[in-house]
Amino acid sequence: MYGKNGLFKYFLLSFGQIFKRMDQILRELPKKAKDKQNENKKFFTKLKKRPPKNLDYIMQELHEEEFERTDCLDCANCCKTTGPLFTRADIERIAKFLRQKPQAFIEAYLRIDEDNDYVLQQVPCSFLGADNYCSIYDVRPKACREFPHTDRKKFQQISNLTLKNVAICPAAFNIVEKMKKSIGNG
Ligand code: SF4
Ligand code: SF4
Repeated sequence: MYGKNGLFKYFLLSFGQIFKRMDQILRELPKKAKDKQNENKKFFTKLKKRPPKNLDYIMQELHEEEFERTDCLDCANCCKTTGPLFTRADIERIAKFLRQKPQAFIEAYLRIDEDNDYVLQQVPCSFLGADNYCSIYDVRPKACREFPHTDRKKFQQISNLTLKNVAICPAAFNIVEKMKKSIGNG
């Protein structure tokens, strides 16, 4: 159906469309999250009081299902708009990878925030490439590996964090919407 060039153009068009779609999703996300804020707060208040026995299982399923559809390389919104906390172990591991002394790494990239945690000096993260790849992926901070934490155990315990994350992470937003449907909203 497509000649060689036609097929190439078709793929370019498809990739372009994926990025355009994600751009639009990310533009609309803060408002969508704000519109759902009260509903989400009520839902998490109830969830904390009476979490279903199989909540860990439900979250694992919802998380896996969502990340089969969502490719973080189309998005990288967490790396662009917020950043991880860096633990001492993160700092030592990453500094070693970059062949730097931990103190030199801290001075180059980190600052201490109001909670006394090490965070990035700036966002987007300095380790994020234009292609959305992370240049320290194999040694990235634990918080980056675990974000948006939707597959963690006892998910009800991080509801305040999740209420914030749904405005940053389209996958977290979708997972919470599905949670409400599968666990019950009212
Ligand atoms: S974790 Fe969420 S915000 Fe981060 S890149 Fe993946 S979908 Fe985007
Ligand atoms: S270290 Fe990597 S995964 Fe973490 S915020 Fe930076 S670019 Fe993203």
